Amino acid sequence: MIPMVNLKAQYAEIKAEVEHGLAETIDNCSFILGPNVQAFERETADYLGVKHAIGVASGTDALHLALIAEGIGAGDEVITTAFTFIATAEAIKYVGAIPVFVDIDPRTFNISPEAIERAITPKTKAIMPVHLFGQPADMAEIMQLCAQYQLKLIEDCCQSFGASINGKQTGSLGDAAGYSFFPSKNLGAFGDGGLVVTNNDATAAKVKQLRNHGSDVRYYHDVIGYNSRLDEMQAVILRAKLKRIDQYNQARRRVAHLYSELMADLPLVTPYEDGLGEHVYHQYTLLSDRRDDIMKALQERQIACAVYYPVPLHQQNVFKEECAGLSLPVTESVAATCFSLPICPFLEAASIREIVAVIRGVLLA
Ligand SMILES: *Cc1c(COP(=O)(O)O)cnc(C)c1O
Repeated sequence: MIPMVNLKAQYAEIKAEVEHGLAETIDNCSFILGPNVQAFERETADYLGVKHAIGVASGTDALHLALIAEGIGAGDEVITTAFTFIATAEAIKYVGAIPVFVDIDPRTFNISPEAIERAITPKTKAIMPVHLFGQPADMAEIMQLCAQYQLKLIEDCCQSFGASINGKQTGSLGDAAGYSFFPSKNLGAFGDGGLVVTNNDATAAKVKQLRNHGSDVRYYHDVIGYNSRLDEMQAVILRAKLKRIDQYNQARRRVAHLYSELMADLPLVTPYEDGLGEHVYHQYTLLSDRRDDIMKALQERQIACAVYYPVPLHQQNVFKEECAGLSLPVTESVAATCFSLPICPFLEAASIREIVAVIRGVLLA
């Protein structure tokens, strides 16, 4: 049995540190916005090279609160990708804005800057790229568009913790960014968690207020806010993993490169690194017309595999009416042939070889 992510192996390495931190938190009873959340916010801000990091309850909330803080609201158009997890678009809808889905690059699956430019209207207020599967989007082009058309740039970094472009972390380049600590993410908690990062003091102050019932001073409320704080226990776990994040991401890259090397002669499309930034392989995603046959063979041998994402957002029931008539040919073709293999820092070479042998058996049968 090979799972998509081996969280048990990861835990074995940090168990002592995590147990000590959790026991200390329980002894102190400092459960809400305690010392570990504060320390984690400083440590992630340093790691990511940003002025402010604010812990929140999930990646979805991080994107939602970042959009509010950046002043995106009713009737504003936000250009984004349809080839992503639903939460990217949910956050846009929560603030009453309109997600404008544009097509992707056929090789990286990231949002296409040319497609963004074609979709800009007088109502466009922001661009929300997703660094999909851990590969940085084309930020140089996107930042140029934001400057030229005076648009806000909010990065969805939920899959790209630790990915960088010329030494700068994803999340440090836009006006604000949202991260997720869902357990299977590159930096994952033991439950839900998220983070907003920004270099803007006003945005940071606003997010801090919003995550805590619209309050700066206890029992004084300036706006209607939310209960969206990063949990203190999760911060303990995240601090232990943050220390090792570069090691984890390097191991993910090694896994991905071994997969690609072993499959170089096979008739399928392995992930493409465009070299604009460093890919941290949240997912290892391939294209094949024989996806269903391959997945069936893997499942028969107890090897996990998954399709991220089978239905692009503009074709989801929830957006069907709103996006009627919208055609995104590259997105639709990728969604019809993509599939992802197990990847995590602890996937052993022997397992990778076993997985590739199954795929080889299907394609060269
Ligand atoms: C995981 C994810 C989110 C949402 O994060 P949660 O912590 O699950 O709320 C948003 N966008 C993308 C691209 C994601 O992968």
